Amino acid sequence: MEDNKSRVVIMGCESYDDNLVYEKLKTAIDLLGGIETFVSKADKILLKPNLLRAKKPELATTTHPAVFEAMIRILKEAGMSDLAYGDSPGFGSPAGVARESGLTEIADKHKVPMLDFTHGQTVDFYLGLVKKRFEIATGVLESDAIISLAKMKTHGLTRITGAVKNQFGCVYGLNKGTSHACYPDPLSFSKMLVDLNRYLSPKLRLFIMDGIMAMEGNGPASGKAVPMKVLLVSDDPVALDATFARMINLEPSFVPTNVFGEEMELGNYSFDRIELLGDPIDQFFNADFDVVREPAEEKKTSGLGSLSSLRGLLVRKPVVDKDKCIGCGICEESCPLEKKAIKMVDRKRRRYPLYYYNRCIRCYCCQEMCPEGAISVKTPLLGKLIVYK
Ligand code: SF4
Ligand code: SF4
Repeated sequence: MEDNKSRVVIMGCESYDDNLVYEKLKTAIDLLGGIETFVSKADKILLKPNLLRAKKPELATTTHPAVFEAMIRILKEAGMSDLAYGDSPGFGSPAGVARESGLTEIADKHKVPMLDFTHGQTVDFYLGLVKKRFEIATGVLESDAIISLAKMKTHGLTRITGAVKNQFGCVYGLNKGTSHACYPDPLSFSKMLVDLNRYLSPKLRLFIMDGIMAMEGNGPASGKAVPMKVLLVSDDPVALDATFARMINLEPSFVPTNVFGEEMELGNYSFDRIELLGDPIDQFFNADFDVVREPAEEKKTSGLGSLSSLRGLLVRKPVVDKDKCIGCGICEESCPLEKKAIKMVDRKRRRYPLYYYNRCIRCYCCQEMCPEGAISVKTPLLGKLIVYK
């Protein structure tokens, strides 16, 4: 082990065959010293998968049940029996999302209960840089240790959703929407995420990223499933996300949680501070992975200040494909603003959403929650020419 470096294990895994995933994950964790390095038999251990919304496992929106089961087996074989799981979905109930994603069946088989993620408490975090108070789910507060089971995906706001972002589900219910409204741009939202991880860090022990099937394009819920055939494991969520970024030819500094994560001493994203173990990263390099390879827009548009109309012509925005839209209204429901920036309207015997871009804070909750993948995030032509040239 090289001194002062974060270690990330890259472990190729061809498929979701149960035994293969178990063997690969166990080998990866053993390279970091074994599961006993991170949790003990006395710990009440929370497995925190990504349960964004109710989707079948093959759509690569949620953590795959094979990864969830492999982690349970590894823990139980090491004598760690006080296990539970849970997440606060972006849409739908935790139980409903877990059922659809295939996790309930595995949890029932191994007698792993789901903890309460619909209620919680407000906690103070005086060390927070941008947020000093969080609404944390009861299930998280009741646990001693968290093993974060993230999914390898793109994200409209933060470029990727990975090991750092996965902890957003530790905030219960509608409080997640409020955070979007309070931290509307990618930079402040990312600082909030880093604060949340810093608050949780005494409990956060290990981060696993399920990249056997990843999601590219219109993530984190409506993108395309793509085989990356890899599991990433680390006790540093920033280093893990930076490794994912490198694999897909995305400059790691374009992911704001990487930059702030290192600045705020959550972890390391600089290449010279990360030691890679396991399989060579080149084997998984995917330069064509469909992800936004641009810096966070606020960096380049912040100088526009009060010229909000000009800003509207430059920065990325959510756009509806009316052919795909079924008029369900979930996008309007998901908008965290008191004065909604998206409203359902009835026109020509059809119901579809209309945007008020002057109000829109570009949190992309509507894009994330649309069940039909009808909303995507697009850069206006002028923005492409001027801001991202
Ligand atoms: S959530 Fe999607 S499908 Fe539903 S109304 Fe909005 S755009 Fe249409
Ligand atoms: S319209 Fe969509 S992107 Fe804009 S503020 Fe509402 S949810 Fe966020």
